[in-house]
Amino acid sequence: MEEIKTINVGIFGHIDHGKTTLLKQLSGHWADTHSEELKRGITIKLGYADTTIYKDGDNYNIEKKGAPIRHVSFIDSPGHEMLMATTLSGATLIDAAILVVAANEGIKPQTREHLMALQAKKVEQIIVVQNKIDLTDKEKARSNYKDIKKFLGEKYSSAEIIPASAQQGVNINEVFRAITEFKIPEREANKDPIFTIARSFDINKPGSRPKELKGAVLGGALKQGTLKVGDSVEIKPGRTTTENGEKKIIPIKTKILGLFKGSKKVDKLTPGGSMSIETSLDMAMGKSDLLSGNILSHEGKLPETSQKIKLKYSLFPEVFGVSSHIKVEKIEKKELLMLSINTSITGGTVGEIKENEMAVDLKVPAILFDGDNVGIARRIQGHWRLIGFGEII
Ligand code: GDP
Ligand code: MG
Repeated sequence: MEEIKTINVGIFGHIDHGKTTLLKQLSGHWADTHSEELKRGITIKLGYADTTIYKDGDNYNIEKKGAPIRHVSFIDSPGHEMLMATTLSGATLIDAAILVVAANEGIKPQTREHLMALQAKKVEQIIVVQNKIDLTDKEKARSNYKDIKKFLGEKYSSAEIIPASAQQGVNINEVFRAITEFKIPEREANKDPIFTIARSFDINKPGSRPKELKGAVLGGALKQGTLKVGDSVEIKPGRTTTENGEKKIIPIKTKILGLFKGSKKVDKLTPGGSMSIETSLDMAMGKSDLLSGNILSHEGKLPETSQKIKLKYSLFPEVFGVSSHIKVEKIEKKELLMLSINTSITGGTVGEIKENEMAVDLKVPAILFDGDNVGIARRIQGHWRLIGFGEII
């Protein structure tokens, strides 16, 4: 039997448009697992949920009816305007996206900004779920559908728009079908591994006995390559230390003690799906996402850490995260920008700049791969707003 493939799908859209509710329908899980999020009812960090879609005639389901046809790792992103960096980091980890638009509210600032984030991170495959159709009449739903179509523009003109009600469970079958029709990108398991770390934690419960204590755990996505239990690995840029009053970043070396695909323990990892790595590092090093934004690979396989980045870039015509229309002014030399590189966010000062190319001196060094996509943000009205995107050259 052919192996069932895994796709990573991100869920995006304005706050309260129904992302987390839809995810619950699609995966059977509730992604808001952080206590502060439960209290406040919003998604703050990225949420993760894994599922397998089955097909029984025309019925797609997660109740194991029919034949399994696709594994899906979902990532739930926060819709709040303050959390754009998290959204960009989420967009780094996915192969395809679902953009949720509540039919009764229409296109909102974060709907726009999220579509731009997807464009910035070169996520080409998307579907739109036109949610909360239970709250609109036919006419309103139709005009909202037209608005969405127009909003998607030429770039995303082939994106399917699926009317649904996540809360009432209406038309979820079509969403499942569309997910199974996303193309799985080619996975390059034979190259040197590139694991982008999106979160890190200490999995020990208070009161664990020393013998049971485990090492720091890293969560993220393997973009290419293969990792095995027992591998000697390196994490870069690494951790900051002060030596003779001078700040230095040194790579971290560790060993892989365990690997997990979703919550399943495995011996080796290849690209596809959300995964985590148990390391031999002191647990304290992993706690509260300390290592997120770093890259892990086999020892000696990662490029040198860079303090400077060169980008070929384009700017959006206007700023999308705000309700008023603000034109994006051109980038000036010495300007301070915020760059989203893989799962890391770093500030930088613009150096040499031409029409569509610039060099930026990074405040926090990064590991750069030629051709990777970078989100560019500028501080506007007190918030970092996405103004364009670049490609590392
Ligand atoms: P998120 O911020 O995008 O993750 O939105 P949530 O999933 O947390 O949903 C926000 C609110 O909208 C919750 O009270 C949901 O119960 C409600 N909701 C979600 N989907 C629907 C829907 O299809 N119809 C209706 N009437 N309410 C919905
Ligand atoms: Mg949510």
